[in-house]
Amino acid sequence: MKIDELSMLLRNAGIVGCGGAGFPSYAKLKDGIDTVILNCAECEPLLRLHRQLMEKRAYEILSALDLTAKTLGAKNVVIGLKSAYKNAIAAIEKNIASFNNINICKLREVYPAGDEVVLIYEATGRIVPPGSLPASVGVVVFNVETMYNLYRATQGKNVTHKYVTVAGEVKSPRTYLAPIGMTLGELIDMSGGETTENPAYLLGGPMMGSLGSREDVVTKTTNAVIVLPDDHYVVMRKNTKISIDLKRAMAACCQCRYCTDMCPRNLLGHPIEPHMLMRVASNRDTHNTEPYLNTFFCSGCGVCEMYACFQGLSPRTLIGAVKGGLRASGVKAPKIEKEPSPVHNRELRRVPLSRLRARLDLEKYNRSAPMTDEAIEPSEVKILLSQHIGTPSVACVKCGDMVTAGDVVAKAEDGKLGVDIHSSISGKVTDVTDKFIIVRR
Ligand code: SF4
Ligand code: SF4
Repeated sequence: MKIDELSMLLRNAGIVGCGGAGFPSYAKLKDGIDTVILNCAECEPLLRLHRQLMEKRAYEILSALDLTAKTLGAKNVVIGLKSAYKNAIAAIEKNIASFNNINICKLREVYPAGDEVVLIYEATGRIVPPGSLPASVGVVVFNVETMYNLYRATQGKNVTHKYVTVAGEVKSPRTYLAPIGMTLGELIDMSGGETTENPAYLLGGPMMGSLGSREDVVTKTTNAVIVLPDDHYVVMRKNTKISIDLKRAMAACCQCRYCTDMCPRNLLGHPIEPHMLMRVASNRDTHNTEPYLNTFFCSGCGVCEMYACFQGLSPRTLIGAVKGGLRASGVKAPKIEKEPSPVHNRELRRVPLSRLRARLDLEKYNRSAPMTDEAIEPSEVKILLSQHIGTPSVACVKCGDMVTAGDVVAKAEDGKLGVDIHSSISGKVTDVTDKFIIVRR
């Protein structure tokens, strides 16, 4: 297959990164890539989707990985996953002989092993320069479910479903293959419902996820919904107001710099220093602009505020606010000439996952969430037109149209970053706006 053909297949099948911002996968395909990495690190506490999918569908995932590497002309193919994922490793080893050049990189049980920049360093020894894309060091990284979706696309199937883990305060944690557009409340009910009186709903992992509600719908980037009591430490941290965060920084930041010393990007030599941002922001110092501009190099992993800061301050949140403000004003990331190199005692400063779970008071929720492919048939789905980074898709159906599961209901605009969107159920289109399409069975 040529790169153009693979790009077209990915775009038309609606394939984006299954988690995070959901970068359209076709846009990652470029000449000059020598290494393809499969990210199966899954480092957020309580998430257990990728390792289970790998265990179940190793051959399909490896086939798609092999196809991608051959199309790009990449000589090296590496699967990055934790050595603790024994069943997933066994499934890979059973199938790996069918492919020539796939290697396994076993990772430690640390957070954030799945951060693209961290994973590339672990798997290849290369450091992506601050503000650059992995392609700048000849690497492209794909997620496990993205590759599974590519395999399905080669069989003529479009993206209509998303694997979602339901965990935390529910009766029976599970990982479902959910039709895109069904509500999270329906998935929680399938898991036996909430087991806490005042639940809060965390969409994604405890470190990088955000609070949502039962009415939110499954999108192409929904990895998990974690139910927690509304007075849980993680929920309270995500509920604080930024004005309060700033006042607390002014009152209590002692400049110990633990946040910087444990920052995974700083440990790889990137010029992000959360303690410096805390210093200038809390003193309203505008003479030194470097700490503000360096916020562009923060990955948002949350180590600084959810783990490192013993005062319970919020460097990540303040960094996010500064970065957002700079972007909105049209400021671009600064160019960094100095080549990054890792801090000498980096290995000693990494965050063990077991300590992180304990610090976040999540150990009791660290239960299995078995994967099931049982068919889920919601009576109605609300399919969002903006489910990923880039331009929202444009509806190509109208009220009253009949659609079959897998049919295109919204198209990516020509020349814009985006992918097609497909109906997850068969039925009648009952509502179309510039934000969503509703299909009733
Ligand atoms: S760890 Fe907390 S107290 Fe120490 S410098 Fe960072 S924000 Fe300030
Ligand atoms: S969130 Fe904090 S620890 Fe993570 S990259 Fe940003 S500054 Fe570093």
